[in-house]
Amino acid sequence: MGYNHILLVDDNESIHEDIESILSNSVSKEDEELKGIEDELFGSSPNEQEKAGNIVNYEIDHAYQGMEAVEMVSEAYETGNPYALIFMDVRMPPGIDGIQTIKQIWEDYPYTEIVICTAYSDYSWDKIVSNLGSTDKLLFMKKPFDATALKQIALTLTTKWKLQQEAISYTEKLEKEVEERTSELNELVEKHKEMKNKAEKASAAKSVFLANMSHEIRTPMNGVIGMTDLLLETDLNKEQKELSRMAKRSGESLLRVINDILDFSKVEAGKMDIESVPFNIRDLVNEVVEMISLSSDKKGLSIEFTIDDDIPNRLLGDPTRLRQVLINYGSNAVKFTEKGNILFEADLLESAGSKQLIRLTVNDTGIGIAEEKQSTIFSSFSQADSSTTRKFGGTGLGLAICRQLAELMDGEVGLESKKGEGSSFYFTVPLEKVPSEKKTDSDIQNGEKGLESLDRSLRILVAEDNKVNQMVTTKMLESEGFTVDIVETGTEAVEQNEVNTYDLILMDIQMPEMDGYEATEKIRKIEKRTGGHIPILALTASAMEKDRDLCLQAGMDDYIAKPVDKQDLIATIKNVIERDFRLANK
Ligand code: ADP
Repeated sequence: MGYNHILLVDDNESIHEDIESILSNSVSKEDEELKGIEDELFGSSPNEQEKAGNIVNYEIDHAYQGMEAVEMVSEAYETGNPYALIFMDVRMPPGIDGIQTIKQIWEDYPYTEIVICTAYSDYSWDKIVSNLGSTDKLLFMKKPFDATALKQIALTLTTKWKLQQEAISYTEKLEKEVEERTSELNELVEKHKEMKNKAEKASAAKSVFLANMSHEIRTPMNGVIGMTDLLLETDLNKEQKELSRMAKRSGESLLRVINDILDFSKVEAGKMDIESVPFNIRDLVNEVVEMISLSSDKKGLSIEFTIDDDIPNRLLGDPTRLRQVLINYGSNAVKFTEKGNILFEADLLESAGSKQLIRLTVNDTGIGIAEEKQSTIFSSFSQADSSTTRKFGGTGLGLAICRQLAELMDGEVGLESKKGEGSSFYFTVPLEKVPSEKKTDSDIQNGEKGLESLDRSLRILVAEDNKVNQMVTTKMLESEGFTVDIVETGTEAVEQNEVNTYDLILMDIQMPEMDGYEATEKIRKIEKRTGGHIPILALTASAMEKDRDLCLQAGMDDYIAKPVDKQDLIATIKNVIERDFRLANK
């Protein structure tokens, strides 16, 4: 960069010589003097050469006419050696004068520093300013020149130019960097958006696929399990009974696999909602232990539970998911234990105000898990020992789901185990205490009345188009002594409900002509006119959370997923009717 490149513009050759000799490097008395002044002004500089007064080496060019100067300035820029300073005469006949020349130079190179040299004032200062505008790039020097002043001006202005060029290139560098970073960031943001879109689409497709698959598999499974159930209630010889039982067990374990995969995908897709409802943890543990004891009894294992007395009776949480984790732990304990006992524990770890930190543990005296396997056991598709897989079966998804569910409830899972001695699987979960409410007399009375009302035989309308499922459901209900009417479409369900009085409608969702949602909406609309409320229980093979919401939105009272377990179906029917009865008597 030409920090010391100077252009002299004057039509008078002797001026060129004068200025050049002043700015040349001959050390004179004046130079010494100048150096003294500089040191005083800017502080002494350490450079040896400068101390000797040999201050700056200027590279000086010469122009004798305005246009010539304009051309030289642009040429100097193009060759990368621009002028740091121009000394400009004003009167240069016959071409353009100095002021016009400056105007042209500044049009293209506005930063150029210029000193106007003039013998007498042809232009007033005001005139110059009105011509060139107010600027800090312009200085005046009257001829004849004072050598010291000239040197000092040259030095000051070339330094100013140099600093300015440095500032400009620094700013440009910064701007370029900012621009580069911005475009990099923009690219990343775009890429991220694209990936997010893709992931969302893939996840949505996965959910839909799984919902469809589970629907498709559940419908025939309802037939398989239901029919084997009915078959088992008929007169069979010993061998037939055993074969039927095996068929039923296979159906059930296939269903468990489907349920696991569905649960796992639901959590992955962020579709698993955690409820917060009041429940009793003692009832919950009791229920699970009762359920697990069916299989532990068969293996001759003893089963027990202890519940910390300090745990409040009513807690807020998601009993369904808590039960699911506990059943998973419990079934594993039975599966991997040949002799000894299984112990369920519920402990209160912390209690602060209404916040309760609870730990649920299932201990067994089974095969245990080697230490090196313990850290991965909660990952999906992980099994401690591939040889046990063949013996015990399983997908390796159960514990992964437990971990996912515990984390969704802000809890944690963990285990302690010793190979050959047994395992303790636990999970912690923060729950809210519910202030206890006293039951009113009328609650108790209504409850009693509700139960009483269930003693009589119920009349149930079943809306279902699949023949096999019609038969399965009818047999299940009739075995409880209920009366059953069957219709095959939503339209028929609405009509039939108008002519007969039922205690409950069991409504399939997918039916020809009119589906279960629409039929329910029609029935609720009619009830607005006629009064009353018939409990409607949705019966569907779709098991995604959103299907449940859709059922409730359509005005159904509850939801039960196919394949239907008989005990489950009867319990849910009783529950819905009881709830309806209570509401009606409030
Ligand atoms: P699955 O049992 O379906 O294979 P899980 O995720 O429930 O899947 O369990 C993963 C593995 O953890 C099991 O295959 C088994 O090796 C080990 N495991 C789980 N519970 C126990 C237990 N109580 N005792 C010994 N091993 C266990």
